[in-house]
Amino acid sequence: MRAFKINVSGVVQGVGFRPFVYRIAVKNKLRGYVKNLGDAGVEIVIEGENENIEKFIGELRSKAPPLARVERVKMKEEEIKNYPKFEILESSGHCGGGDSIIPPDVAICDDCLRELFDPKDRRYMYPFIVCTNCGPRFSIIESLPYDRKNTSMADFPMCDDCMEEYTNPMDRRYHAEPTSCSRCGPHYWLEDGNGKNLGGLEEAAKLIDEGYIVAIKGIGGFHLACDAKNESPVEELRRRLRRKEQPFAIMASNLEEIRKFSYITSEEEEELKSYRRPIVLLRKRHNFPLPESLAPGLHTIGVMLPYAGVHYILFHYSNSKVYVMTSANYPDFPMVKDNDKIGEIKDVADYFLLHNRRIVNRIDDSVVRFSEGRAVIRRSRGFVPLPVDMPFSHEILSIGAELMNTFSISRGGKIYSGQYIGNTGKIEVLEFLKDAIARMRSLLKADNLELIAVDSHPLYNSSKLGFEISEVENVEVLKVQHHYAHIASIMAEKKVDEIVGIAMDAVGYGLDGKTWGGEIITISSEGIRRESHISYFPLPGGDLASYYPARSLAGLLYKVYGRDAEEIMRRFPHSISSLRYGEREMEIVFKQLEHGINVSYSSSTGRFLDAIASLLDVSHYRSYEGEPAMKLESIASRGNRDLNFEIEEGENIDVSSLIPQILESRESKENIAYSVHLSIARAFASRAIRIAEEKGITSIGASGGVCYNGIIMREIRRVIEKAGYSFIATEEIPRGDNGISAGQAYLGGMYLENMLKKNEVG
Ligand code: ZN
Ligand code: ZN
Ligand code: FE
Repeated sequence: MRAFKINVSGVVQGVGFRPFVYRIAVKNKLRGYVKNLGDAGVEIVIEGENENIEKFIGELRSKAPPLARVERVKMKEEEIKNYPKFEILESSGHCGGGDSIIPPDVAICDDCLRELFDPKDRRYMYPFIVCTNCGPRFSIIESLPYDRKNTSMADFPMCDDCMEEYTNPMDRRYHAEPTSCSRCGPHYWLEDGNGKNLGGLEEAAKLIDEGYIVAIKGIGGFHLACDAKNESPVEELRRRLRRKEQPFAIMASNLEEIRKFSYITSEEEEELKSYRRPIVLLRKRHNFPLPESLAPGLHTIGVMLPYAGVHYILFHYSNSKVYVMTSANYPDFPMVKDNDKIGEIKDVADYFLLHNRRIVNRIDDSVVRFSEGRAVIRRSRGFVPLPVDMPFSHEILSIGAELMNTFSISRGGKIYSGQYIGNTGKIEVLEFLKDAIARMRSLLKADNLELIAVDSHPLYNSSKLGFEISEVENVEVLKVQHHYAHIASIMAEKKVDEIVGIAMDAVGYGLDGKTWGGEIITISSEGIRRESHISYFPLPGGDLASYYPARSLAGLLYKVYGRDAEEIMRRFPHSISSLRYGEREMEIVFKQLEHGINVSYSSSTGRFLDAIASLLDVSHYRSYEGEPAMKLESIASRGNRDLNFEIEEGENIDVSSLIPQILESRESKENIAYSVHLSIARAFASRAIRIAEEKGITSIGASGGVCYNGIIMREIRRVIEKAGYSFIATEEIPRGDNGISAGQAYLGGMYLENMLKKNEVG
């Protein structure tokens, strides 16, 4: 007989791990105990026969519950203490030295869903039904260990029935921390704008059917919901939110409903049904039966399946099987999550479906799109706080960039990225960032930072915040160039130590003070090098150009035609009239270009695509991030003829050489847009291949916001793989700017390992 103490780390709390350990211990006739530790790890002590202990260890790794991740198992022989039986002990605050974390919020499981609609079950129609295999986790946790008393379920003492299940090792709810029932748990109620109680879920569903807009408190925050098949509330919601064009996400009751309006590939179906239940961007059917105003001018629509009891019950009572489900906030504000803050959306919703469980950590729905693998556009509910491994074990806070931002905390060879934060240029969002960083640091007990990584951009609020924290805690700051971070995020996730990276992006602050965004970058043992880029073109009005694609177009025309550009621009009356002061403004724009006044220079892929969107009369104003380029892709997706436009091969990629070819073409704008996509992809790919040959690097990757573009990514992969190289892009870390902090963490690690010099990084 022998005894061992075992420390298990990974994702082992909040996943039914202790009951699982209990079952395999009892089965193998072992005695001792299991308990949660304060660092999200688990401690086990077992006594018994040698062969039983061996079987136990094997099963610990191979038979763990579906949501668990067993990463490290540390064993130490102990003295035999003759425990009378095996039991689950109270958690202790102490730490086992592992690197553990609680799981993300998990969609309702099939067992709970069956009980939810079983009239004989005591949780029939109870929206907060959960078990050890499902339910909220990250959104309700205050601190570790993951015990009920450390979650917002602490406000609801269990009734006898719930307590009995909770303490019965044979029950599915044994130690399910957020478990409750209609007698003891939280509940929903419906209010009008004056706080008058109008009922519950059934009444809310009826109001949605009748065309009203209902604010629904859910898992990570509030949604604004209305009937997605009914044009009038959809348009009313746009008007009230002052959100003209930005697509709304929708929730459909099941896959069959989704198939009525969009195509679903098998990988998309799997992601839709996964426990993460993200919003997946799907291709609209050719005869799209829903209102165009859901996603105006786009060939895709963001769709998700129900993920909590409340959603299933609403659809049960509703005639509508498709709802708009958009985060409840004005553009660029954090989503509302607290009952006492619904005043912020009083003017938007007609009715309010509230519940009395506190949301501790705000967490938006995640968004993914399949484009050469799973591209995560917004990494939040269902993903956070699961980490990504990296080779450096330093403790680093990396704070991201500005738009669509998030932060990461790295420790013990893992990058823990925070939930989606948003545009930190706004004060309210910056406050959310600060709060989220503090909460994540306390969950991870990350209080010995070695480095803070920030974007090189001196004016970003996030960079300033990094310097503030550095002053208080006396930690070194590392500035990281935006696109270096994009490329490094691929190295972190895909485990390559050298790469030729194509950064296709809107904008990032360049090391020469210009606006970068179309870069080929190598990172290897020789350091970081910007090898090639889109040849600079002028952007008259600097920042204004990001809102008015016609300004980017004027800049490109000027680059090609000089003083004749103004005459040529007159061929595009739609572009001219899209400027705020029309013709008069255009004349000023060309004067600016001629005299170099208030003109910035850019290598941005996004701005180039914007210019083409304007030229082809596809989109003339950016009302949300990426809009003109996304609409251009939608037009291009209807093209089918490759016009073989050419970009001259040189040191850099001169995209302006496409302009004369486009102007001379008599083809449809669909074919022109399609061909522009192909040519820019080929130019990037062939330049990257030449650099890879010269340097002897075998992996070529791409990152940046343009990597959500399906046509460009497909063509780049085709060309690169044809040349015998492997092409990689991230599938876990976002390719857009909420992936920046992960890349900053990786470069921070390289810097602390003396693999890079400070002035090289940013
Ligand atoms: Zn369940
Ligand atoms: Zn109960
Ligand atoms: Fe970026």
